[in-house]
Amino acid sequence: MILDGKHISQTIRAEIREEVLMLKAKGLRAPKLAVVIVGHNPASETYVANKIKACEEVGIVSERIALEADITEGQLLEEVKRLNNDPSVDGFIVQLPLPEHISETTIMSAIDYRKDVDGLTPENVGRTVQGLPSLVSATPRGIRELLSRYKIQTEGKHVVVIGRSNIVGKPIAMLLMQRPYLSLPGMSAASLGDATVTVCHSKTRDLAAICRTADIIIVAAGSPKLLTADMVKEGATVIDVGINRIEDPSAPRGYKLVGDVDFENVAPKAAFITPVPGGVGPMTIVSLLQNTLQAYLGN
Ligand code: NDP
Repeated sequence: MILDGKHISQTIRAEIREEVLMLKAKGLRAPKLAVVIVGHNPASETYVANKIKACEEVGIVSERIALEADITEGQLLEEVKRLNNDPSVDGFIVQLPLPEHISETTIMSAIDYRKDVDGLTPENVGRTVQGLPSLVSATPRGIRELLSRYKIQTEGKHVVVIGRSNIVGKPIAMLLMQRPYLSLPGMSAASLGDATVTVCHSKTRDLAAICRTADIIIVAAGSPKLLTADMVKEGATVIDVGINRIEDPSAPRGYKLVGDVDFENVAPKAAFITPVPGGVGPMTIVSLLQNTLQAYLGN
């Protein structure tokens, strides 16, 4: 069965739209997201435009703050402080990557964790680890939501995560191993968590053998066809986070997007599988909207 992230994300968008309308009907203001973009990186411009559009669709107020690439770290820190203290802004993100002369760690650490809707500040990550209320980074939150909406239980399951990045691998491993009573607010099922999680990376020995013991495999490596059918046990759930551009002369743009899974051969063995595109990707952007609403509600 295909885990249809596109469809689920549309359902969640409709739910958020409804909630924002209800807030306004009560005479309250709408939530507000600010997005800071530094310089003119074309990929970043596209991501930011998509985020602003997604906000508009659900009635979340958004503001795009564009700063020149030669801004100093100090000036960007001032902007972060201004947003931290602006009561009309519930959440904000500083789009990465930043120009080389600016330390991403310094900027991320300066963001008030209560407004950190990307969930990347050390404080939010630490709170997630400790099971305290926190804003979880968008992709792990989206994966968890997708599992939850399809009622895929993780209790007692062996989850293998391929990838140990700060934005995907580590946080999803952390979320799925949590005790459910420590799980984070805003999630729709308490049955997620309690998994036995193995985290793999490029130095892992015999990845295939480890994957074959998995009930759920989450691949976030950025390597096309890394997960092949012989690595997947019959009836496993496969979540493909990867987004890779590969040449395709027959495609209008000369390339197509593929994940990290050999979808064609793995899908027949998997009980559930996410496609690329249309799986985890749409869930990621909707998670940002959920985080903004969560920041607004103060939980
Ligand atoms: P990183 O490059 O930060 O991390 C990749 C991880 O995969 C590393 O831990 C690396 O190991 C591991 N890895 C790479 N190749 C192998 C291999 N052959 N065998 C085992 N492990 C391997 O990537 P991200 O986590 O940022 O992103 C991963 C993928 O997910 C990318 O394709 C990215 O575009 C996509 N992505 C998709 C999102 C979405 O919304 N759908 C959101 C975010 C990312 P090591 O640490 O040893 O180097």
